[in-house]
Amino acid sequence: MADLIVGIDLGTTNSEVAGFLDGRVQVLGPGNQILPSCVGFSAGGELLVGESARNQLALYPERTIRSIKRRMGSSESVMIAGKSFSPTEVSSLILRELAGWAKSALGGTPNKAVITVPAYFSDAQRAATREAGALAGLEVVRILNEPTAASLAYGYAGGGRHTALVYDLGGGTFDVSVVSVEGEITEVLASHGNNKLGGDDFDDLLAAHLCREFERQHGIDVRQGNTPGAKARLWWAAEEAKKKLSSEVYVQIREESVTTRNGRPLHLEMEISRKDYEDMIRGLVESTLDSVSKALSDSGRKPSDMDAVLLVGGSTRTPLVFEMLRERIGIEPRQDVHPDLCVALGAGVLASRLSGRDAGRVLVDVSPYSFGISFLGERGGVPYPHCYKPIIRRNTPLPLTRSEEYSTSHPFQTEVDLQVYQGEDEDALKNVPVGNFTIEGLTGMSGANEMICRMRLDLDGILEVTAVEKRTGKSKRITIDNALKAKSDEEIRAARKRLEEMFQARAEAFEHEHHDHDHDHDGEDWDEEELAALDPALSEIEAAFRDPLPGEEAAVGLVDRSRKLLERMHSEDREEAVELHERIHEAIKMGDVVGMNDAARGLKELLFFMEGRPN
Ligand code: AMP
Repeated sequence: MADLIVGIDLGTTNSEVAGFLDGRVQVLGPGNQILPSCVGFSAGGELLVGESARNQLALYPERTIRSIKRRMGSSESVMIAGKSFSPTEVSSLILRELAGWAKSALGGTPNKAVITVPAYFSDAQRAATREAGALAGLEVVRILNEPTAASLAYGYAGGGRHTALVYDLGGGTFDVSVVSVEGEITEVLASHGNNKLGGDDFDDLLAAHLCREFERQHGIDVRQGNTPGAKARLWWAAEEAKKKLSSEVYVQIREESVTTRNGRPLHLEMEISRKDYEDMIRGLVESTLDSVSKALSDSGRKPSDMDAVLLVGGSTRTPLVFEMLRERIGIEPRQDVHPDLCVALGAGVLASRLSGRDAGRVLVDVSPYSFGISFLGERGGVPYPHCYKPIIRRNTPLPLTRSEEYSTSHPFQTEVDLQVYQGEDEDALKNVPVGNFTIEGLTGMSGANEMICRMRLDLDGILEVTAVEKRTGKSKRITIDNALKAKSDEEIRAARKRLEEMFQARAEAFEHEHHDHDHDHDGEDWDEEELAALDPALSEIEAAFRDPLPGEEAAVGLVDRSRKLLERMHSEDREEAVELHERIHEAIKMGDVVGMNDAARGLKELLFFMEGRPN
């Protein structure tokens, strides 16, 4: 019988198996294909491996074991439900379960395996891993370093020469390695890490916050006393919330009956923002960046020598990790191979090659483009209405949902125009417009009104964009079909034209409103004609607006607001306002951004006092 070789990531928190199926390397297994690295016994003495063991961990720690990888290679034994096991034996139970998954998917029992280990594993730890394989009926044909597996999954091995930084943040461990890949040879130049740091620590920080909030609401500290069930519930809720915060900017937590008092159930109900969560974990993420610097200096390389940064491990789905790493290294980290499956897939690539299968690189459905919306921000120190930052980043595996938070830009703003673009450029106008819509009827507020923009992109290339007013939940959504189809030049031109027409229509509405306003005016202490003569015609401003300066839209908006308030101004203020209108108008005509902003700042200050006054 031919050998059946599989690749296995035997992880501290989770394990996976991958093999060659339907012409490509895939992770094999039911459901989400991840097996929690937990082993236990039920009350009735039944062996539990994976999810079922993990589920009883908090309630029955004496009957369950986790993180056995930390003890591999040591001679200590562990007790599970009163029975003694060696770490190798416990690991073999996990491997046996994975081999069972592979058998169901491949239709035959695997007899050989490539198993991955951290680059820093000693000989004793590697030998223990081989032994665990043998106990599970698997001949371990290769022990593969995890960062090497990641570079195999990304298809770096076999090509030219590359240097990559592999950043691996799992549930309980953190490793960073600098690898040099040349042809078939991948060398780990340096590794650093912390085998006591991972997503579990993020859970702990968030869970502690939940506990404090529960105590505030009900006066019970579930960390004290004998309520393991309540504690387990809050830790579970914290992990779920943490995962959601990777794609959402706010999460509502509602845990029913966390515990009881006098027979009455006590619930936890609260909201947590991504920003608050990020503040909790920032210190931990920073500490991983210290290890990154150490690994780089040990390898004798600089950040700019890196051809790629590869993200590995479930916790790298955390946006803050991506952002801080990008800032430190100066290139966009890659996450196009699912970070929690990447090591197993790399092991699967090698296993397939060893069985004579041509497995080039792992193929995953990713978004080939970035998508985002334009917003009023600053460029070169001046306000600019077409700022852009992707919400969905290219090369992210599909399907995916991502949201970002924005706020309204003017006081008492009741509608927002959303322009959706495809592209990377910080200037939205240099990207490809793909759609637009207006959300109306928002709460007019004197301060900033928080808006959430959520984007969901599925495997069929359907992009759903939703705008939500956070305080009321009022929302509006559009669906853009074929978002992943490359746009032809013709389509891009047509989309730009539509956009220009829209900007134009807005400018006309603006002129119209101004016109109506002039006719409505019946103020006593100023002469309309006099003012009209003093104040430049808005149509002229709008003419300049067709080819706007950075920040011009904001300045013109300000003039518009100011004109509506002229009649309520004291005469000196009015004169000053009109003079500022003129200066803005002149500056726009001359293309003088500094002059325009200077005058706009003056006008803003003037209006601040005006708008602060009651009618
Ligand atoms: P691993 O050891 O690579 O399987 O990673 C497991 C860790 O990744 C656990 O701490 C998970 O809670 C964490 N994790 C999984 N999915 C996400 C997510 N979407 N966002 C943040 N952390 C995640």
